[in-house]
Amino acid sequence: MAPVKVTKICCIGAGYVGGPTCAVIALKCPHITVTIVDLNKARIDAWNSPDFSLPIYEPGLVDVVRQARGRNLFFSTDVDKGIEEADLIFVSVNTPTKKSGVGAGFAADLNYVELATRRIATVARSSKIVVEKSTVPCRTAESMRTILEANSKPNCRFDILSNPEFLAEGTAISDLLSPDRVLIGSLQSPEGIDACESLKEVYANWVPQERILTVGLWSSELSKLAANAMLAQRISSVNALSAICEATGANIDEVANAIGYDSRIGPKFLRASVGFGGSCFQKDILNLVYLSESLHLPEVAAYWRQVVEMNEYQKRRFSKRVVDTLFNTITGKRIAVLGFAFKADTGDTRESAAITLIKDFQSEKAFVNVYDPQVESEQIWMDLQEASPLMPLETIKKQVSICSSALEACKNAEAVVIATEWKEFKDIDWEAVYAGMNKPAFVFDGRLLVDAERLRKIGFRVTTIGRPSAV
Ligand code: NAD
Repeated sequence: MAPVKVTKICCIGAGYVGGPTCAVIALKCPHITVTIVDLNKARIDAWNSPDFSLPIYEPGLVDVVRQARGRNLFFSTDVDKGIEEADLIFVSVNTPTKKSGVGAGFAADLNYVELATRRIATVARSSKIVVEKSTVPCRTAESMRTILEANSKPNCRFDILSNPEFLAEGTAISDLLSPDRVLIGSLQSPEGIDACESLKEVYANWVPQERILTVGLWSSELSKLAANAMLAQRISSVNALSAICEATGANIDEVANAIGYDSRIGPKFLRASVGFGGSCFQKDILNLVYLSESLHLPEVAAYWRQVVEMNEYQKRRFSKRVVDTLFNTITGKRIAVLGFAFKADTGDTRESAAITLIKDFQSEKAFVNVYDPQVESEQIWMDLQEASPLMPLETIKKQVSICSSALEACKNAEAVVIATEWKEFKDIDWEAVYAGMNKPAFVFDGRLLVDAERLRKIGFRVTTIGRPSAV
């Protein structure tokens, strides 16, 4: 058997990964028809919207979709048709952490992966290459294969590949156009290697050969968890050092810079902050913790769990610093929270540090003004409601207001908290912000974004991560 020449791709899941990834494949492979399907009609309608009001914000994404949509890129709710027509299917559905049940809080919820796999098994009438794009626990491909083989029709074979996605939200399009590497995992059987070649050929349309790594299936699945765990571990390490800096008078920027010069460490991803967020880091580490526990490796589980615990500690430590600095009480005080997305250049709020901070400020009976340039009000209310399920939304709305500009959010506030590193917060008219605030006016920079000295000259009292509290 020779590798199949891929001409039709279906991607199940039109989210932050499936949408941009397959839009870029369509852009770079005009000879391949790419259909992205999703059960969520509102999401598909947004992908198809005539004015390109796409369901996710990502720099450069509109341009890519504009070029390929209607040519060889299609978005549809007809999952079955997408599956039936494709020769290669990406499974790019969500794999959240289980919130209840056995193993709650740690295990990945593979329900969406299983449902998508069962759908493929039920609908497919010809052979398919099925590609895990979702981040999954090691050996998930085995379960998928069992489901597919138990339900396959005569003359219908399924080859499973793992092709985890390493894009970062906010830079997804440039990451996809010029990836550090593309990883493809397959069984080492002749059929597995052929399937791997088929997918490799797709990426070879724009990714240099030496950046396409082919490995065994289990190594590929584990590599994705490992990459996210190592990245998050780096953030937690630098954040742990930031606490020591605050207590000693050392400066985390200087420390990070000094250690980053070591070529074994390198300068990237050494920025202290209020903590990491996003849908992946915490979930993937908890996944690794669960895997380690299932493999009876409690010490390994404890090691990785500490990375998440350090992150929680960093967020709480920051909230406490705000309260302590504001004379040990924020009751009745107004706090402006600038940024609600978990990082700049995305509208994604999953596990955003801002949610924890606002909840902490609410519990201290402060009033909170929130502003984010990309996150819709509806999303903010949904997240705050989810964070305090027992509190009626009306009560939340008495304490929290959503503002339409940073300046409006800061008006009459005692303190400004920078929760997301949006560039516009660096460039706001800080003199005007100062003029509109109650005095003394405080800034808490959770992202090491602003020029603290400049703000101090205006009159602000500035507190940043990794430096002693300032006046
Ligand atoms: P998402 O929630 O944005 O999108 C998943 C989509 O799948 C949803 O729109 C949902 O409606 C759809 N879906 C679920 N089950 C379906 C089914 N049976 N049929 C059709 N559609 C279905 O999630 P995401 O952020 O795109 O993440 C997808 C996967 O990629 C996850 O495993 C995640 O861990 C991984 N990942 C995410 C990122 C990231 O930055 N977001 C990066 C790398 C990897």
